[in-house]
Amino acid sequence: MKKILIIGGGLSGLSAAIYLIENGFHVEILEASPKLGGRTYSFKLDDKQTIIDNGQHLLMGCYTHTLDYIDKINSMDKFDFQKSLEINYVAEKGKTFKLSVPGKFYPLNLLYAFINFKLLTSSERISILKFFLGLRTGRVKTGDEQSVEELLRSHGQSESVIKKFWDNVVISAMNTQIGLASAELFVEMIKIIFFSGKDSSNIVIPNTGLSEALIYPAENFIKNKGGKIVTSERVIKIEFENGKASKVLTSKREIIDFDYLISAITSDQLLKIIPDDIIEKLNIPSLQYSSILSVNLWLSKNPLKEKFYGIVGGKFHWLFNRGEYISLVKSAADDLIFSNKNDLIETAISELKKYFTILTDTEIIDSKIIKERKATMISDINSIKKRKKMNHNFNNLFIAGDWTNTGLPGTIESSVKSGRMISEMILSHPLK
Ligand SMILES: Cc1cc2nc3c(=O)[nH]c(=O)nc-3n(C[C@H](O)[C@H](O)[C@H](O)COP(=O)(O)OP(=O)(O)OC[C@H]3O[C@@H](n4cnc5c(N)ncnc54)[C@H](O)[C@@H]3O)c2cc1C
Repeated sequence: MKKILIIGGGLSGLSAAIYLIENGFHVEILEASPKLGGRTYSFKLDDKQTIIDNGQHLLMGCYTHTLDYIDKINSMDKFDFQKSLEINYVAEKGKTFKLSVPGKFYPLNLLYAFINFKLLTSSERISILKFFLGLRTGRVKTGDEQSVEELLRSHGQSESVIKKFWDNVVISAMNTQIGLASAELFVEMIKIIFFSGKDSSNIVIPNTGLSEALIYPAENFIKNKGGKIVTSERVIKIEFENGKASKVLTSKREIIDFDYLISAITSDQLLKIIPDDIIEKLNIPSLQYSSILSVNLWLSKNPLKEKFYGIVGGKFHWLFNRGEYISLVKSAADDLIFSNKNDLIETAISELKKYFTILTDTEIIDSKIIKERKATMISDINSIKKRKKMNHNFNNLFIAGDWTNTGLPGTIESSVKSGRMISEMILSHPLK
């Protein structure tokens, strides 16, 4: 049985492990931290009961690789699936506007959705519909040098419609400001979300902690099938001999008994552990990362009805209602991420007062702030161009990770897809 050594126990490493075990390989995962999951995990608060995530994660119906992964690890019941895309947007003074994209009208569902989306003026709604039509028919074209903002403006999207609608879509999905985000990647993403089937834009939300939904079941799957998982062991160096990865040096030992080596870590982590000539051969890009901030608040009472709200033009992009507590989330949060706890709570309170008037006489009982400074890669024009030139393998070394050339922004789907992509490469090119 061929042995695969996987560096990194985040979703990309777990995805590769699951697929390769199923295909008859012996798999060992080496994870530097004491826990699996990487940037997708949950933990218990001091009361030892409340589970919170390192930041709310949303999946979508178009996450086909992830849904397949969830199915394999038998975890479908840990997710709530929207029947069709529905988002409640909240504007100042608590005015709410529903965007409802009914799957039964696909492919005309966007027409129905925007005709009825009263957050926007009628001319704004027409401009959005024209833009979607242009994407669908291929009339809207973009090159690898254009930002999303340039693309939107060149197709009749006004300042106001960008602020009210597009800003939130782009920042949330690409964790990158609209003026920097790659238009090429954005167009691909929109096509996958809205034009690849009636359920593709539906939101899928974990109904428990992220580790409980995505990580522990994968760990059990791997262990039950004879895979090995080692935590708290960092890979420090990969050595090469005769053009092949031959030795892995870790914080504890040297490993030479592997046939294939998979890197499932971020590009900056990988750049530290492989020699310069291999970096050149693989064209590993040095990428920049962007933050996500979550302000979790426990309230004296919670009258909010919906599971989540999009906030129009606010300092936070989303409010997630977890019943017991609420989470205010900001993507590409570099302007707030260095603020201290008190300032962040004050900002959160003033935003709640501005947008959620029903919370006016509600007190804040407790709070937990989570700052993920390097949440995902910045999907800007330069990074997307650089990653297109990377190679996914050099002889027996294969590269996975949400940042690799999957055609997607740095997301769960990108990480799971990358694990699957390189596993398929390994299967289709067996070593002699
Ligand atoms: C707050 C937040 C919110 C997000 N929201 C969403 C969302 O709503 N939807 C969505 O799709 N995506 C979201 N994402 C992105 C998603 O979490 C990531 O894309 C995904 O988790 C990346 O997985 P990965 O396996 O590629 O990398 P990682 O999760 O970074 O895994 C890499 C692993 O390798 C380990 N490692 C690193 N170096 C070494 C070494 N030398 N030796 C051994 N191990 C090593 C690390 O400890 C880590 O466990 C969010 C991310 C954050 C942080």
